[in-house]
Amino acid sequence: MLLRAISHRARPFMQSRCFHRERYGPYPYVDLGQGDRQQFPVINPANGEELCHIVSPTSEDVETAINNAQSIFDSGVWSKASVLHRSQVLSNLARALERKIPEYAVIETMQTGRTTREMNIQLGRLPEWLDYYAALLRTTNSYVAPTQGKLLNYVQRVPLGVVAQITPFNHPLLIAIKKIAPALAAGNSVVVKPSELAPITVLEFAELATEAGVPEGVLTVLPGLGSTTGKEIVQNPLIRKVDITAGTQTGRNIGTIVGGNFASFTAELGGKAPIVVFNDADLISAVNGTAFAAFVASGQTCVSGTRILIQNDIYDTFMSLFNEKVESIKRRMGNPMNPRSTMGSVISMNHLKRIEDMVMRTSGKIILGGGRMTGTSDLDGFDFSAGSFYSPTVIVGIEPEDELWQEEIFGPVVVVRKFQDEAEGVALANSCKYGLGAGIWTSDLSRAHRVAAEIQAGLCWVNTHHRNDPSSPWGGMKDSGIGRENGLEAFESYSQTKSTIVNIAPPDETRSLDDWFSDSPEGKRYG
Ligand code: NAD
Repeated sequence: MLLRAISHRARPFMQSRCFHRERYGPYPYVDLGQGDRQQFPVINPANGEELCHIVSPTSEDVETAINNAQSIFDSGVWSKASVLHRSQVLSNLARALERKIPEYAVIETMQTGRTTREMNIQLGRLPEWLDYYAALLRTTNSYVAPTQGKLLNYVQRVPLGVVAQITPFNHPLLIAIKKIAPALAAGNSVVVKPSELAPITVLEFAELATEAGVPEGVLTVLPGLGSTTGKEIVQNPLIRKVDITAGTQTGRNIGTIVGGNFASFTAELGGKAPIVVFNDADLISAVNGTAFAAFVASGQTCVSGTRILIQNDIYDTFMSLFNEKVESIKRRMGNPMNPRSTMGSVISMNHLKRIEDMVMRTSGKIILGGGRMTGTSDLDGFDFSAGSFYSPTVIVGIEPEDELWQEEIFGPVVVVRKFQDEAEGVALANSCKYGLGAGIWTSDLSRAHRVAAEIQAGLCWVNTHHRNDPSSPWGGMKDSGIGRENGLEAFESYSQTKSTIVNIAPPDETRSLDDWFSDSPEGKRYG
């Protein structure tokens, strides 16, 4: 009876086609359907249905778009617009985005296979990034450097020019807006290449930006493949900064090209976050927090807590509660469109296969999950077979040399190890090439700060996980990348300083002091 009632309630969420467009193309350049441009489908990974087709830009389109972005930049219509104007437009865009969130959350769910409960909450926060940078823009000041001599040296921040942003599939709109907001605030022209697997919301957002007052051509979206469109954008010598969120190897490949062009570079790359649970932690919170860290987005976040470290004396109790939690997540999986569903699919069948292969190769012992999901959901009767669903998986008895300890799996799979004391916990947490996120669970205040200071990660959460805020710098150490998103740091990374030095000495003094080639042998300049 209960099951029937739930399925009935879930039924309105079952249909997946809701697009007002069959095809999307580069925004704002291409008249859809013209020319011999290649098209590729966007697939809903939860059921294998084609959602729409994307018209890919040709090499000439990429060049035209970047040249146009440069002309718009040079025109000053945005790059030299008053700070108040740019700030007002970003605020307008935040309000327009608020109205679109329910629609965009449905699209995000369909193109990623993530649950609607995740996408509604994630998208609900995105206007904050636009509001934050609108406000920051109004409060940033130029300064006067204490230069010696009768000189007035003011230092201003000016935009870079045309900047490129390459974004991944896992948080399509969140990551795009995290990058677009500071770049627009600083006055740049922005070219975005969203993931070919999930480009739709970014294309929609670019149109919304124009409606909100961002001049046409200031924000361009080129939705092609990484190996063609992405590479062509990154290589273009007009691009003054590349900001990429991607796998570490992609970041490395792109970094080499960017370095050759002397462009700025921000790279948000892979991670393998450790979760260190001490014996004095509040156990229930630690179990819930670890499950969230590991399985939100089906483990497809760069800060997924995938290496779980449990202090010896609480290992058995923790594992019994944790396994119960993981089983309950699996029991309540269903149609990602159903707001009661706990965990969605992974992004594609190819990715599902990669996860399966990595799990098959491990030397550890699989105690829960360990395979793709088939059959129908207990929650709402949804058929998992046509989608790319992987069972939430727990693996124990693993050595730090194992591939699953060292490499990102980007799926709902955790590996667990015991540790004896604080020193061993920290050493194990750091025994990996990545350094993005980390979680520490303890009720000992001194230990929390001590361990946080020792862990090599750009983001350390204590008694919580995956907190993200426009004001909080986000980025990694070691192989997790370079540079930071969010906060003043991101805003400054999208601008450069310009130092203007004005001689304010009266003409007679200037005539005598600044005549370097006078007959007098002593140098007279101040500096
Ligand atoms: P990916 O590396 O496959 O692709 C990311 C983007 O790069 C896509 O738009 C792709 O088309 C593009 N790309 C690929 N090769 C390119 C090339 N040669 N030139 C230009 N562009 C190219 O990554 P993905 O599978 O979409 O996303 C998952 C990865 O992103 C994971 O490794 C994850 O950890 C990382 N990520 C990091 C963060 C962070 O904040 N550090 C956040 C989210 C995701």
